Amino acid sequence: MTLASTFSGAHDFFSSGTWFVIRNLLLFFVVIFWLATAYWVYKDARRRIEDPWLVAMSVVLGLIPPFFGALVYMLFRPPEYLDDVRERQLEIKAIEERIAAVDLRCPVCHAEVDSGYLVCPVCTTKLKQACVSCGAPLEPIWQVCPYCETPIEPAVPGAPPALGTRRARRTIS
Ligand SMILES: [Zn+2]
Ligand SMILES: [Zn+2]
Repeated sequence: MTLASTFSGAHDFFSSGTWFVIRNLLLFFVVIFWLATAYWVYKDARRRIEDPWLVAMSVVLGLIPPFFGALVYMLFRPPEYLDDVRERQLEIKAIEERIAAVDLRCPVCHAEVDSGYLVCPVCTTKLKQACVSCGAPLEPIWQVCPYCETPIEPAVPGAPPALGTRRARRTIS
């Protein structure tokens, strides 16, 4: 086979239908891959970015310029997933609540008590009045039960003293 026939053979190949099919297939795969990278950017951006406009802008960047835009997005995307950020915020909130709960102590024996306790389980000091209707623990300054809207009657004489009075009596004696 001579050089000329090789060239003519190559020329025949490139002008043949086979070459067009191969070229179109290659183009097709490039376009599919391009759209796939943009879709990946969309999925990733949705997990990291809350603002829908920023997500849309990320997708546009993922499309234009092709492939390179997705690379730029990867360099500048937020480092954390939104789920992780929310989880951490919940954890911080739980820790704060735990710290706040530790501060709740019985005024008499200083045992740790829950905000929902009616009496101190250690020394049986009456901590809170219970709602007559729903039984929810009530704060001394409340005028009405926030859970069932039942008006709270002021403590009658002879009834178990509220937290403040019991404490005051104890300091006097
Ligand atoms: Zn106590
Ligand atoms: Zn109530």
